[in-house]
Amino acid sequence: MRLDRFLVHTGYGSRSEVQKLVKQGKVTVKGEVIKKSDTSINVLEDEVKVRGENVSYQEFYYYILYKPAGYITATEDLRQETVLDLLDPIDRNKGLCPVGRLDKDTEGLLILTNDGQLNHALLSPKKHVDKVYYAKLEGEVGREDIERFREGLTLEDGTKLQPAELEIIKTGAESEVHVTIREGKFHQVKRMALAVGKKVIYLKRIQMGRLSLPSDLEPGAYRPLTSEELEQLS
Ligand code: URA
Repeated sequence: MRLDRFLVHTGYGSRSEVQKLVKQGKVTVKGEVIKKSDTSINVLEDEVKVRGENVSYQEFYYYILYKPAGYITATEDLRQETVLDLLDPIDRNKGLCPVGRLDKDTEGLLILTNDGQLNHALLSPKKHVDKVYYAKLEGEVGREDIERFREGLTLEDGTKLQPAELEIIKTGAESEVHVTIREGKFHQVKRMALAVGKKVIYLKRIQMGRLSLPSDLEPGAYRPLTSEELEQLS
């Protein structure tokens, strides 16, 4: 692979930015300063350093982020902060995309990857990857709501949903529930709650597939997924 392409892929900036970096003599390959960006390197074997720091090659990157409220799930926006703004600059440049969308006011587990196939597979209803949400609702929840979720709700615009699971943690004027869905329709959980006459006042995604939001991850923090966690996703 060309050195400049390798540096773009690993997050060091645009093609012209990395070319400048190379020209300035900030990049070494196998211990030697290389000033030509079109130098061919073996990404798996050659030791590449930028400003003395090792750069390792990975074709696909997978990160888990604890999305806090207040950020939109997008890769760029002119006015609002996106989930990519929570990443270090080097990771922001790796071509990562969020897997599925959480609303601006929704918190919780968000996967970021440059692996388009995985992204697609996790969202496809055919793959049956469960997404579990913890929600606080205005209004009492009861057995009839569980039943209606199980049968498959019809939303206000006539959309017929697949069966979903509603688990009651606490019921009262303000209720707490777990909702498990397999689809990912726009505002799905909020609209499901509305379909049974309740309003979501807090929403957090706590699980995708068999992967739970790690308890040691703070809101706004992120880290690479381990290979075991990656397996738990599908
Ligand atoms: N359902 C919603 O209503 N909002 C989200 O952010 C995720 C699921």
